[in-house]
Amino acid sequence: MKITIASGKGGTGKSMVAANLAWALSQSDRVTLVDCDVEEPNLHLFFPPDDPESTDVQVSIPSFDNSRCTLCGDCARFCAFGALVVAKDRVLFFPEHCHACGGCALVCPAGAVTEIQRPIGTVTTRHLSAHLSLVTGTLNEGEVLGVKVIREAKRCAAKPGWLVCDASPGTSCPVVETLHGSDFCLLITESTPFGIHDLELAYSVTSCLGIPVGVVINRSDGKDEDVRKFCNERGIPVLATIPFDRWIASVQGSGDLISRVDPTWKERFIALGGACRSSVGGT
Ligand code: SF4
Ligand code: SF4
Repeated sequence: MKITIASGKGGTGKSMVAANLAWALSQSDRVTLVDCDVEEPNLHLFFPPDDPESTDVQVSIPSFDNSRCTLCGDCARFCAFGALVVAKDRVLFFPEHCHACGGCALVCPAGAVTEIQRPIGTVTTRHLSAHLSLVTGTLNEGEVLGVKVIREAKRCAAKPGWLVCDASPGTSCPVVETLHGSDFCLLITESTPFGIHDLELAYSVTSCLGIPVGVVINRSDGKDEDVRKFCNERGIPVLATIPFDRWIASVQGSGDLISRVDPTWKERFIALGGACRSSVGGT
């Protein structure tokens, strides 16, 4: 069962829900938690420090042999990302624009383009307990190909049991990549006008991808009518409500998990996992 935790904006408590859900489910099942928020991964902060296994994520970028280049311009015309400019005496390459598509090497009629490997990030794996692993994708500073790091993190995390992926906030390409292959998406929201607006954006993405969703209302002050109305009108189940509560904030602030310190919350998160499974027809 692959669940993605997403939200239309940052700061809704998405990572908190992902970490609690994964920890609670791991008390009886195998769980791999994947931090796909590769520009700012933070799930490791909820767990004790350890010595993770780490691998580089590399992409193939072009390298130009000026002695073979005829300055025909085919590569620059092909490149849809503006990463190549043919100057008087050489091809100028701007790696920050390159999407590593490999097209320039394919179209070069002179065999002047070869590919070299460039590291853009890392994937680390932590074995937190017999049943719980945390896989973290991290994009190197200044790099833009977060999608490739997410893809590699998910590949490393592909194991039996639950897969809980924490997406980056918003609705951009990294979120779509994280959602790809998910059985279910939990959308985390707050009952404010901005929260509903961003929930609508996130829901539009999951609808396009055909992924079933449920909603968790976080920091609820009990006045959730507008969110519930939004969900009712679209047939979206509200699967859990987490209150606006000083104790919850202080547990989180200390880097702990409410499901780890309170058995009631552990059961609630286990029930949330069960509700996700039931929503896609599992048992
Ligand atoms: S690999 Fe693709 S994106 Fe990069 S420079 Fe070549 S054509 Fe452009
Ligand atoms: S396609 Fe090949 S030969 Fe033509 S400009 Fe690019 S590198 Fe040079």
